[in-house]
Amino acid sequence: NRPPRPHRDFIRTRGSTPHNPQIRVMQWNILAQALGEGKDGFVRCPMEALNWAERKYLILEEILTYRPDILCLQEVDHYYDTFQPVLSRLGYQSTFCPKPCSPCLDVRDNNGPDGCALFFSRQRFQLLCTDHLRLSAMMLKTNQVAIVATLLDRVTGRTFCVAVTHLKARSGWEAFRSAQGSHLLQQLRTISSQQGVQPEGVPMVVCGDFNAEPCEEVYRRFLASPLGLDSAYRRLSTDGNTEPPYTSWKIRPSGESCATLDYIWYSRGGFSVDAVLSMPSEEQIGPDRLPSYHYPSDHLSLVCDLSFIQEPHRLM
Ligand code: NDP
Ligand code: CA
Repeated sequence: NRPPRPHRDFIRTRGSTPHNPQIRVMQWNILAQALGEGKDGFVRCPMEALNWAERKYLILEEILTYRPDILCLQEVDHYYDTFQPVLSRLGYQSTFCPKPCSPCLDVRDNNGPDGCALFFSRQRFQLLCTDHLRLSAMMLKTNQVAIVATLLDRVTGRTFCVAVTHLKARSGWEAFRSAQGSHLLQQLRTISSQQGVQPEGVPMVVCGDFNAEPCEEVYRRFLASPLGLDSAYRRLSTDGNTEPPYTSWKIRPSGESCATLDYIWYSRGGFSVDAVLSMPSEEQIGPDRLPSYHYPSDHLSLVCDLSFIQEPHRLM
C-alpha cells in the first residue's frame, strides 16, 4: 500500500487566451533503473521503493495521468523491453538515443545503456526527420546526446522541431555544459534553417535535464540565443521571469540537493504557453525527498500546454 502520487493542478498562464488546439509536452528524467539501484546513493529512499517490477508502473502512471502529445525522457534504460512496446500500444511513435558510454553499464545486472527517448502521438504528428546528435564540447566528443525530430502537426498543418537532451552532471562541469549547450543550439539553428520556410526558422521545443541551475552560463545562453527561446516554467511565477524553486530534490550521503535543473524551452515567436502543471509542495514531496514510495524519480515531471501563435499571413 503505497501513499498516493502528489496531486498537481494545471495553472493557466496569466493573460493567455486559450488557443486551440494545444500540444501537451512532458519533460522528465525518469531515473535510470541501474543508476538508482547501483550508483546514486539515495540514502533516504528504501531499496524496495526502487524495485523495477513496481516502479515501472509508477512511471507509466505519471505519464498516463497527463497523456502528453510529446514526451521527452532522460535516463531511459528500459526502452526496448518496456517503454517502446507499452507506449507504442498506447499510440506513441518513438526514437531512442543511448549514451555512448552509459554509466549504467558499470552496474551489475544492468539492462543496457541509458539514454534520451522521444515519444509523440502517432495520430497527431507525422515524423518528417530525426537527428541523433552526440554533443561536443570544445571540439571534443562527449558522452552526452540529443535527439532532434521534425514533426508535422496534422491538426494545424504546422511544422516544428522538438529536441530532447541530458547534459553532463556534477559541479565543476559548468563550462563543459555550456559548451554542450552551444553545440546543441548551433545544430538546432542548422536543422531549423534547413526546414525553414519561415525566415526565423521553424518553431522549436527543447526539453532536457540540463543539470544546470538558472544562474549557469548554459541557461543564459539558451535564454539569449538567436532562436528566441523562453522557458515554459517561468510562466508559473508571479513576475513571469523566475524558474520554480526546484525540479529535483534528493538526499545523498554528501547531503541534500534541491535544485532547478530541468527545462522546457520553446520559441517565443512560435508558441504561446497556455498552461503549466504546478510543482508539488515540500509537504507533498515529504521529508525523505525523492525518489520515494509515492514518486518514482528524483526529478519531477514538467508538463505544459503549448499552442501555435497565428502567423500574420495565416490569419486570413
Ligand atoms: P554524468 O556525470 O553526466 O552523470 C551520469 C549520471 O550520474 C547522470 O545520470 C547523473 O544524474 C548521475 N549523477 C549525478 N550526480 C551524481 C552523484 N553525485 N552520484 C551518483 N550519480 C550521480 O556522467 P557521464 O555520462 O559523463 O559519465 C561519467 C560516468 O560514466 C563515470 O562515472 C563512469 O562511471 C562512466 N563512464 C563509463 C565508461 C565506460 O567505458 N563504461 C566511459 C566513461 C564514463 P542526473 O543527471 O540526474 O544528475
Ligand atoms: Ca540521475
